Amino acid sequence: MIDAGISFHVSEKGYYGDFGGAFIPEMLYPNVEELRLHYLEYMMEPSFQKEFHFLLKDFVGRPTPLFKAERLSAKYNTQIYLKREDLCHTGAHKVNNTIGQILMAKRLGKHKIVAETGAGQHGVATATVCALMGMECIIYMGAIDIDRQAPNVARMKMLGASVVAAQSGSKTLKDATNEAMRHWINHPVDTHYIIGSVVGPHPYPDMVAKFQSVISEEIKWQLQEKEGRDYPDYILACVGGGSNAAGAFYHYLDEPRTALIAAEAAGQGISTGHSAATTFLGKPGVLHGSKSLLMQTEDGQVIEPYSISAGLDYPGIGPLHAHLATSGRAKFFDITDDEALDAALECSMLEGIIPALETAHALAVFGKLGAKPDEISVVNLSGRGDKDLATYQEKLKLNQ
Ligand SMILES: *Cc1c(COP(=O)(O)O)cnc(C)c1O
Repeated sequence: MIDAGISFHVSEKGYYGDFGGAFIPEMLYPNVEELRLHYLEYMMEPSFQKEFHFLLKDFVGRPTPLFKAERLSAKYNTQIYLKREDLCHTGAHKVNNTIGQILMAKRLGKHKIVAETGAGQHGVATATVCALMGMECIIYMGAIDIDRQAPNVARMKMLGASVVAAQSGSKTLKDATNEAMRHWINHPVDTHYIIGSVVGPHPYPDMVAKFQSVISEEIKWQLQEKEGRDYPDYILACVGGGSNAAGAFYHYLDEPRTALIAAEAAGQGISTGHSAATTFLGKPGVLHGSKSLLMQTEDGQVIEPYSISAGLDYPGIGPLHAHLATSGRAKFFDITDDEALDAALECSMLEGIIPALETAHALAVFGKLGAKPDEISVVNLSGRGDKDLATYQEKLKLNQ
């Protein structure tokens, strides 16, 4: 049930319920304000839409298929479709957003791009569109992550990006984000900051959600073609910051017949101290420019998250998802590393599709969902598993 009084769309001031806003240092204000004033106008321009959809089609390979997973459906005795974002150029949904944002940068008259990256997936998606558009690209990445994610560092460099090591704090994603923001403060005139998920100060969460909403726009007509109705009973997605889930949920936010199902990374389990399940463990707080739920100590220090999956290893969650969780509009499941590994193996063996470890968290929900035989579920298959092969090799003991 959806309470008729609740909105799931961003307010004028950039809020989703109690969450969102723009909590930024004064020196960042002109950049964020310039973006806030223009993003909707630029996005709506027919020439922008034309270029965006042309690139989504011919560069990214959209529309991505909606595939009926017959053997998974039989296994769980329900109707399961996979939205194949894994078939996007660069192997995941992230490029939908970076294409949109680089076009936005051009409209804003910027010719340099700065971005943060954790596992390197957003860094690669950003470096890719910078190469496409001939723009200078600087990617901040935690020094520890640079060591852990060597193949993605090599990809970014091959695409012409400079990769700068963040040496502060825990030398991971949150520190890379802080240093990328500092870079933007120091280069406000010629540089646009491409944030990689539905996080950050308003208008980023709304802008990124709108670029990713192409996912549910396609699901609607694809389901209509295949099932004669344009909505599923369940739509499932994994949530790190929340961009692939926001895109998959977007056109169903106000559809009462569709249950929104989110999978968070429980890591070793929510009570083990090694987890990234923000809606279960987080409290309201401010991180990277917006108010949301956040894993923090009693005195407000950010707790270092843990997940086997690098893309879900984030201590916060986008403000839209904090609102979906606390209002009860979306149901959140906490999925452990082991449950995700089992689900990845199952999808591979039953469907011939090796999913990303992030995505495997969403697939693992079928063991707990209780969907009925004639009910229809769509899982957003956010990315492919090639990048996770070393982890699969080790954890699934594939070398024995
Ligand atoms: C980055 C990533 C995610 C998590 O990011 P969201 O913003 O929550 O979508 C999920 N799946 C894949 C394949 C990713 O690369």
